[in-house]
Amino acid sequence: MTLTRDDILDWPKAELHCHLDGSLRLDTMIDIAEKEGKMQVLPSDTVEGLKEILREVDNSETLEAYLAWFRYTIPLLQTKEALYRCTYELAEDNAKENVRHLELRYAPILHTEEGLSLEEVNETVLQALKDAERDLDINTGLIICGLRDRYESASMRQAELAAEYRHRGVVAFDLAGGEAGNPPKGHLHAFYHARNHLLNLTVHAGESWGPDSIRQALFYCGAHRIGHGISLQEDPELMQYFADHRIPLEMCPTSNVQTHVVPSLEAHPITTYVKNGVPVTVNTDNRLFSRTSVTDELWSVYQYCDIDAEELREVAINGFRYAFIRRDEKQALLRSVIDDFPLAPSDETPVW
Ligand SMILES: [Zn+2]
Repeated sequence: MTLTRDDILDWPKAELHCHLDGSLRLDTMIDIAEKEGKMQVLPSDTVEGLKEILREVDNSETLEAYLAWFRYTIPLLQTKEALYRCTYELAEDNAKENVRHLELRYAPILHTEEGLSLEEVNETVLQALKDAERDLDINTGLIICGLRDRYESASMRQAELAAEYRHRGVVAFDLAGGEAGNPPKGHLHAFYHARNHLLNLTVHAGESWGPDSIRQALFYCGAHRIGHGISLQEDPELMQYFADHRIPLEMCPTSNVQTHVVPSLEAHPITTYVKNGVPVTVNTDNRLFSRTSVTDELWSVYQYCDIDAEELREVAINGFRYAFIRRDEKQALLRSVIDDFPLAPSDETPVW
């Protein structure tokens, strides 16, 4: 069985790790900058020019250098109109490539620089997702991120916001931002608050720091999923624990090459994880900065990593299996996805 990119484009897919502020359309950036009188924010006033400059993202030496590129997007996401438009367009771009379940994440605190309240920001993004669900064949959930390089009090406020909206579209709490020197356990109270309100938890961990960061995310913070987990391979016993307890990784291969936490796609640990039974999902991280889509990420994994068509099928379906959706809804979604899936499951393939 040999796959083409078009085969993967047709597959029903899920996106579990996608940042709003890293996934804008280039022409929308210019349009918002023009409308809001913010052209000085952008390094070019044409789509082509912007595209060219953003190719430099590939030369980010570290995760922190990669995160610095968000200086071109965050200032453009400070009004209700811009937040609504970019969220809706992102859902549209996902629906176009047959992504049926989208979990979008962002840190509302980054969008309050021009006076919007956290609630106004969050309600705007939730409304855009709700409208996208009404108009398109897509299911959505919102993940609120605390920022690990800020004080815990700021994370706590984001966790409170997540809890406040847990019946209105917010499905989980996350911790994002520069990992080095900012261990997850510095944000324990925020995680406790989110967990005690029965929110799902995911943590960016083991991306640019060792397996100790992953252990903290699991055993101190109570993470249900781990974002990236690149360094998990350095700790074979912990990797076995992930396989035994079915703890999923949200992997974003192109982003990992750009931040230089792996030297190449060929050297990406996703192959090791799949072969060792760790549940893996494949995601974009940032559609704009990584110039990618869910289809292209899965296609890259198929082309450059030692993963065959059947294994890739399981990885794609894992996006639904490990989505933050309540169990009965998940069962229904999984059944419809599996019915639509062109590759048949093997006898030992679990539905869920
Ligand atoms: Zn991320």
